[in-house]
Amino acid sequence: MRKKIVAGNWKMNTDYAEGISLFSEIVNIVRDEKKGDQLAIICAPFIHLNSLSKLGGDVVKIGAQNCHQKESGAFTGEISAKMIKSIGCEYVIVGHSERRQYFAESDALLADKTNIALANGLTPIFCIGETLDERNNGNFFEILKGQLENGLFHLSPEDFAKVVIAYEPVWAIGTGLTATAAQAQEVHEFIRAEVAGKYGEAAAEETSILYGGSCTPKNAPELFAQKDIDGGLIGGASLKSRDFADIVKTFN
Ligand code: 13P
Repeated sequence: MRKKIVAGNWKMNTDYAEGISLFSEIVNIVRDEKKGDQLAIICAPFIHLNSLSKLGGDVVKIGAQNCHQKESGAFTGEISAKMIKSIGCEYVIVGHSERRQYFAESDALLADKTNIALANGLTPIFCIGETLDERNNGNFFEILKGQLENGLFHLSPEDFAKVVIAYEPVWAIGTGLTATAAQAQEVHEFIRAEVAGKYGEAAAEETSILYGGSCTPKNAPELFAQKDIDGGLIGGASLKSRDFADIVKTFN
């Protein structure tokens, strides 16, 4: 049975004190109210991670939002996968559309980031998604296929088995425009079929595929009820403890 996962992505929000306080609230509510074996993860700004890793225990896991593609060296201002792992963090988001768009992160670079994350024992949450133009042009399945093939499908079956995929349609991120459950399911089914084509049916059945883009406590139940949607990557709603916990509780 593949894992059900609700991961928050705080992006560049919360100062240190706010982050500690918000995370503590989330841990308390999730500890009291989560009933199932779904996984709750918060991907926080780098400066919060060391403290959060000591507060979450097994209740809420910690992830970074990015890592550098090289092991170490003269890359002023960057953070390595090894550093992230060293403070007890287990996950890292790779290939978020904001990084693809604002930091020109290419599929080839993201393949390197995925490799270095895995080599250091981190689980990559690998994001793919199409823009509004790509959706309207009708070629979005090709775009998504390219992102999978060029960013992930070089992995060995053993390494691929450790990856979580997140489908985040760019037009649904922070816009309040959620993909309908049917639109999201259609893409998730496509992603799973692509994984099956490359790694086989059994591997595809084990791959967790999360949906991201204006996911809320209100729309999560319908989205998460789809057979190929295994949870969510939550932006705005993860900055409100009650909302994030309610989304986690969708799997109770
Ligand atoms: P929103 O939930 O704010 O749309 O953000 C989604 C996202 O980008 C999560 O990584």
